[in-house]
Amino acid sequence: MKPGSLVCDIKLCNALCCRSCPVLTEDEVAELVTDVKREYAFDLDTKKYFRKASGEYGLYYAVKMKKGQCIFLDKEKRCRIYRCRPKLCELYPVVDVDAVDERCPLVMKNKISREMLDALKMRYSDEIDARIKKEQIFNFI
Ligand code: SF4
Ligand code: SF4
Repeated sequence: MKPGSLVCDIKLCNALCCRSCPVLTEDEVAELVTDVKREYAFDLDTKKYFRKASGEYGLYYAVKMKKGQCIFLDKEKRCRIYRCRPKLCELYPVVDVDAVDERCPLVMKNKISREMLDALKMRYSDEIDARIKKEQIFNFI
């Protein structure tokens, strides 16, 4: 469930936002491994949880999918690394500098304020890696 400050009813969306894989840079993956070790005392095996992806501007790591959903989602549809989840997950339902996922019930039912969406868009602009923002298509390797 995400984002943390919002109340999501996953019965409505079946964790829609966790049915596509976040893409990270190599540095972000290294940071995630460190954070997960600190927060959950768990050694994240990058080969097990990520696959490589290429784009026009570089090479990246995509979180693997399992049965159509993110490998980190548990049976109760909760993120197993929630406290360390990737930035792209944290900023959802914002999915680009000026785009939101209209299918998210928080957006559809106006349960997220315009101010909150604007703040998330600002964070997207400031915090998401410049190359990832420019990529149109990722090719999974
Ligand atoms: S890392 Fe967590 S929040 Fe992000 S898509 Fe996977 S399960 Fe969802
Ligand atoms: S799709 Fe929207 S309502 Fe559902 S878990 Fe994700 S952010 Fe929350």
